[in-house]
Amino acid sequence: MVFDGKVEVVTEYDEEVYRSVTITIKMPSVVRLLHRVRGKKQAVKFSRINVATRDNFVCQYCPAGSPKLPLSKLTYDHVVPRSHNGKTTWENIVMACYSCNEKKANRTPAQAKMVLRKTPVKPAYLPVVTMRFDMKSIPDAWVSFIYWNGALEEGA
Ligand SMILES: [Zn+2]
Repeated sequence: MVFDGKVEVVTEYDEEVYRSVTITIKMPSVVRLLHRVRGKKQAVKFSRINVATRDNFVCQYCPAGSPKLPLSKLTYDHVVPRSHNGKTTWENIVMACYSCNEKKANRTPAQAKMVLRKTPVKPAYLPVVTMRFDMKSIPDAWVSFIYWNGALEEGA
């Protein structure tokens, strides 16, 4: 991919993978994708982790400035409850903490007098990598990139 111009090397290991009279190539440790990978435009999968990522791991009913929560402290909330014909879709599902979810119960936000932080939408793409790594197995060179990608959960 480096030679095809699809990625550029950001950092590399000292280890050489190729050496000749004119060229020495070191093992890349972090590369940056220069173009979108070709292929079908992938729809963002409707999954708990992706809804949580869209909602930034923050309860959508807690007051502004509330901290991010680990997935174990978040649950799906149907904005319009299923009992009111609410659908399980990107536009009707938000992340909520268990206490807000309980408080809201089988009501719409208006009925429960609760304010939704933002109108849920289907994202065109996800801004962060949703992969999770075991911190101990991450090569040192990756750590800062993964950190700045915001991919790790707090306290999980
Ligand atoms: Zn909450």
